Amino acid sequence: MTSQTTVKTLLILGASGDLTGRLLLPGLARLVAKGRAPGLRLAGAGSSDWTPGQWLDRVNTAFADAEAHADAAGKLELKRVLESTSYHQVDVTAPGLLAALLARLEAPVAVYFALPPQISQKACEVLHPHDVPPGTRLVVEKPFGFSLESARRLNEVLRTLVPEDHIHRVDHFLGKATVLNILGLRFANNFLEPVWGRDHIAKVEIIFDEDLALEGRARYYDGAGALRDMIQSHLLQIMALLAIEPPATIGERDLRDAIAAVLRASSIKPPYTDSTRRARYLAGSLGGKDVPDYTAEEGVDPDRNTETLAEVRVDIDNWRWKGVPFILRSGKALGTKRKEAVVTFRPVPHLPAGFTGTDTPNTLRIGFGPDTLELDVDVNGPGDIFSLDRAALVAELNASELLPYGEVLEGVLTGDPLLSVRGDTAEECWRIVEPVLAAWAAGKVPLEEYRAGSGGPAPE
Ligand code: NDP
Repeated sequence: MTSQTTVKTLLILGASGDLTGRLLLPGLARLVAKGRAPGLRLAGAGSSDWTPGQWLDRVNTAFADAEAHADAAGKLELKRVLESTSYHQVDVTAPGLLAALLARLEAPVAVYFALPPQISQKACEVLHPHDVPPGTRLVVEKPFGFSLESARRLNEVLRTLVPEDHIHRVDHFLGKATVLNILGLRFANNFLEPVWGRDHIAKVEIIFDEDLALEGRARYYDGAGALRDMIQSHLLQIMALLAIEPPATIGERDLRDAIAAVLRASSIKPPYTDSTRRARYLAGSLGGKDVPDYTAEEGVDPDRNTETLAEVRVDIDNWRWKGVPFILRSGKALGTKRKEAVVTFRPVPHLPAGFTGTDTPNTLRIGFGPDTLELDVDVNGPGDIFSLDRAALVAELNASELLPYGEVLEGVLTGDPLLSVRGDTAEECWRIVEPVLAAWAAGKVPLEEYRAGSGGPAPE
């Protein structure tokens, strides 16, 4: 489906940054090449004294892959964007400079803050409402604040500048295809909904295990850790989608209302020694390469006790989910990459006597990126008709023709905040994790260890 963009100019603040080069520009390129950003102009800004040629080189490099795969019309679109792009040297924290740039660009403008979080906050604070032309969209990256208090303050500043539906808090984990795949599975299948709750589901696990170590990101990661980096943002959003009540429509209002209602009912309950675990990786090997102790990585302060693996049990105290544990876990430097939600059903109340073999509870696995579905069932296997065997019903779900950041940008450009985290939801996610962060900072939960390349800390 081709959507009409409402934004005329995409202004990327942080033109020279990692996010811009590695994710934003390639995501944009695919969107442009598919004809899904007609008429859009691209502007880059940074505090560096770059020549127009330096910026053009950067955009050219990032566009190369999409260019190579584009059809004739796509190539023309990419060329059009390249020929009209501009670079602007601006210190966005200096009063008046970003405002002056906004006034020069063709409106409406989407301002993408691909900046260190504290610089983004400062840049918003020095803007005045009258500096921001009507229709402007503000796109803010994660982490959205560093605590409930700071998220509240950032929300207050943003709301003085533009209405809530013009604020896009990016969560690139939630690609549009993934969101719709979960909603389609849950709400287009009559057999699933009656069993989707505490009567039939024993637990839900949402796992994001990375087979990468720190990869030079100490400056950001050592101050954040796995709980803030992954669970506070991405995994709570996935949990909410799996747990929401059926919405009347999949429009942003209905969907984001339903997500907010689930998160308001969610908490991590003390004692945190039972409901949470934290761990840090030791030296080991990943994909045949030696990995040092986390504490020996450049830029890491061992006294911070930053966790590289976090696991929490979230409880959703409502009619549907009371008592069902939602286990959210994310870790770095693990032996196997795993990105999935696993729904484990309760065992059958009575297995008729006479059957032999395995009687294992059903599980439904939803894999993310690429999105897949696997339903594990017990069936009468080959051979002995009385013997139960495990069979997996497997399906591939829709794969987007866009890159994840292309989906994010399309939402911004077409004025669809569906994929953006709403302000109240961003604050709820901090409210859920903050007591755990405090307990961990006070040393109330031991920091465990695991070898890089292993499956994580030993099961309890
Ligand atoms: P980088 O440190 O690589 O880039 C930051 C950019 O900010 C630089 O281009 C720098 O440009 C610019 N900048 C800094 N100060 C100013 C200023 N006063 N005025 C104008 N520009 C300024 O950061 P990342 O790209 O890694 O991250 C950006 C954001 O994206 C962060 O919020 C991060 O958490 C988030 N993010 C990053 C991901 C990643 O993989 N990199 C993934 C998900 C989110 P110059 O040198 O010209 O000043």
